Amino acid sequence: MTIKKNYIAGEWVEGVSTTRNVNPADTSDIIAEYATADAEQTKAAVDAARAAYPAWSQVGIQQRSELLDRIGQAILDRKQELGELLAREEGKSLPEAIGEVGRAGQIFKYFSGEVLQMRGELQPSVRPGLDASVTREPLGVIGMITPWNFPIAIPAWKIAPALAYGNCVVFKPAELVPGSAHALAEIIVEAGVPSGVFNLVMGPGRVVGDVIVNNTQVDGISFTGSVATGRNIAAAAVGRMAKVQLEMGGKNPLVVLDDADLNTAVECAINGAFFSTGQRCTASSRLIVTEGIHDRFVEAMVDRLKTLKVGNPLDAATHIGPVVDERQLQQNLDYVEIAKEEGAKLIFGGEQLQLETEGFFQQPALFVDTTSDMRINREEVFGPVATVIKARDYEHALELANDTEFGLSAGIVTQSLKNATHFKRHSQAGMVMVNVPTAGVDYHVPFGGRKGSSYGAREQGSYAREFYTTVKTAYTLA
Ligand code: NDP
Repeated sequence: MTIKKNYIAGEWVEGVSTTRNVNPADTSDIIAEYATADAEQTKAAVDAARAAYPAWSQVGIQQRSELLDRIGQAILDRKQELGELLAREEGKSLPEAIGEVGRAGQIFKYFSGEVLQMRGELQPSVRPGLDASVTREPLGVIGMITPWNFPIAIPAWKIAPALAYGNCVVFKPAELVPGSAHALAEIIVEAGVPSGVFNLVMGPGRVVGDVIVNNTQVDGISFTGSVATGRNIAAAAVGRMAKVQLEMGGKNPLVVLDDADLNTAVECAINGAFFSTGQRCTASSRLIVTEGIHDRFVEAMVDRLKTLKVGNPLDAATHIGPVVDERQLQQNLDYVEIAKEEGAKLIFGGEQLQLETEGFFQQPALFVDTTSDMRINREEVFGPVATVIKARDYEHALELANDTEFGLSAGIVTQSLKNATHFKRHSQAGMVMVNVPTAGVDYHVPFGGRKGSSYGAREQGSYAREFYTTVKTAYTLA
């Protein structure tokens, strides 16, 4: 089996060992072996990025824009093939995987244009005869640590703005999904990125990630993943005064009011809670439903859940692919048991499924009769597990929606303009959705949350420049 290498200082290099990329829908399907770097190789990647930075930061925006455009186009041209690879390694259904790849391509295209929009400010000084200008400069070397649930879109929305604004990159993907990351790296290299500007370092977080986080030559760290890892990274980064940006978990509410269109409510809940196997930080795992529609909603949800097929992501009939790995499946099954022990009533699914191939399949789970204080409503499961919490009225539903340590995304299904507007204003989340699922955001507007979900500047859209650039104020006496 060929070994897919790391890309460090303009060379494809072998690691100190290798990791197997296993298809979670069929564990006999080994996608490829991937190089695993050690601390020394990671340091070499950081050094290469540091050495390449002075020249790259001075390259004109035209050249950077064209590079990003070529990368974006190459991704879009290979959407089907990359989608199949992504579905095979991560487990989301093929249409979802192709959609994610398309989004990665669009992100590069977007930042190809966005970099041409760079502008500063010129204003008179309060002191006569002086002008003050405010401009943005690249941050420097950026370390990127990404999770397994969006193996190409999340790397894209970090790498594209980093390169666009003149930074150099050391990219560490999640160990579970090196395939899409490696394919993306190949595309970036083929598009002509200069040596050292972009480095791919695959390997375990506790080794590769640790070097990136603690190396003083890394000026900024952009992380997406779990709260526990994010908290440690933030502490280390702040300790050495590096810039840090974290996107972490969610326990996102979807509020369904009595006046909701039932079909819209069910489709928002099914999509938000169970698509991508519930493995989205924006998944709506808490369905907060007012009394007047509660029973009808629950009944319709169960009917709709019965129509969903769990299976191989490459099978056109599949709606929900496998859980990403055995450890995550066990975590999901444990939470099903915890919820039952807490007194929640399981009215659909939750069990592991044995299908034709050996994989990590789980029937989506729906609980009712749950309360906000239960662990199942407070902790992120990160799987196809959702709960219903009954609310007395809109005010109670809003209170329940905000009763969480997290604040990434929140949704409401209602026909009331008054309640929708009130919810948009008073939801303690970074992103609010009215009559659409909590998951699914555009690439040209900011992405991020509040409270325990996010830390630091927003990602995506023009707001990405807050993290990837630093501001300079300059005076001229004319
Ligand atoms: P982690 O937070 O452990 O992993 C995210 C990234 O951080 C990976 O690239 C990982 O590398 C890396 N990492 C791990 N440890 C360190 C470290 N000490 N220093 C630097 N980098 C590190 O999440 P998991 O993948 O383990 O998933 C655990 C749980 O996190 C899930 O069950 C889910 O609840 C949540 N999660 C949330 C996500 C979100 O988007 N909100 C995304 C993914 C997970 P490696 O892969 O090598 O471990």
